[in-house]
Amino acid sequence: LAQLFRPLDLLGMVYRTVRQGLIDMDAMFNLIDTRAEVTDHSGAPPLVVTAGRLSFEDVSFAYDAERPILKGVSFEIPAGGTLAVVGPSGAGKSTLARLIFRFYDVTGGRILIDGQDIAAVTQTSLRAAIGIVPQDTVLFNDTIGYNIGYGREDAGQAEIEAAARGAAIHGFIESLPDGYDAKVGERGLKLSGGEKQRVAIARTLLKDPPILILDEATSALDSRTEAEIQATLSTVAARRTTIVIAHRLSTVVDADEIVVLEAGRIAERGTHRSLLRKNGLYAEMWMRQQAEAEMEEA
Ligand code: ADP
Ligand code: MG
Repeated sequence: LAQLFRPLDLLGMVYRTVRQGLIDMDAMFNLIDTRAEVTDHSGAPPLVVTAGRLSFEDVSFAYDAERPILKGVSFEIPAGGTLAVVGPSGAGKSTLARLIFRFYDVTGGRILIDGQDIAAVTQTSLRAAIGIVPQDTVLFNDTIGYNIGYGREDAGQAEIEAAARGAAIHGFIESLPDGYDAKVGERGLKLSGGEKQRVAIARTLLKDPPILILDEATSALDSRTEAEIQATLSTVAARRTTIVIAHRLSTVVDADEIVVLEAGRIAERGTHRSLLRKNGLYAEMWMRQQAEAEMEEA
């Protein structure tokens, strides 16, 4: 019976802690995940990022044992390279991002960073090396400055503002009566999806991690703001190992490699041009999106 009550207790705890604004995202995941399966091995060493090479070796994963989500996914991103992951909704793209951050452990295969299995190093060192701009950003009940500065604890106001500029949100913040001290969240300012995304991008610019994951990072932005931020993101991505998960294919044409994920498997892979020549799933998605864009213009 005690087991039955545990998830409820945990939810209560998560709720109270979130209310206090004291929790960060990975802590929240650890609390919600009642299986608590992600633990550091005793004496686990820290991750040492030397170059930033990231590889998936035959990775499988299931949230529930009966329903496999990722099935034998393999790829390798050389240091500083960019891999794009595209595919229909529900294919497992965000799951793949969560596995790199080790919100969950893989059920088969391995994920390696510079040859080190991410399951064998400390979670703190792993997460310090990775920046994620997630699909849905959680903000704290605190000032907007705090919400950006959270990307790096020792950041000063000048650095926070530079990051906000890079994420095209500085002007918006300056227009608020309280500026960077404006409260956001439940009892403060309600930010739109696009503004939240820009806060998340600013956080990540500030964190300046060697490995960057963008999970449909600009999907909630209008196309003008997207174009504005895309330039910054491209500069940031150029210097580091990047995974771009994208729905809008126009944002991935320059990736070193594109993998098309379909129902948890890599259905196609290659560069934009080679995938178009293949005339498969990617080419079909591309054609459809081009047609949609033309319709919108007309
Ligand atoms: P995508 O990002 O490609 O749209 P996701 O990785 O979010 O896909 O989801 C892949 C599949 O895993 C979906 O069927 C989704 O319902 C399922 N899923 C996602 N998160 C969870 C979870 N926490 N528990 C159980 N199933 C999940
Ligand atoms: Mg997703």
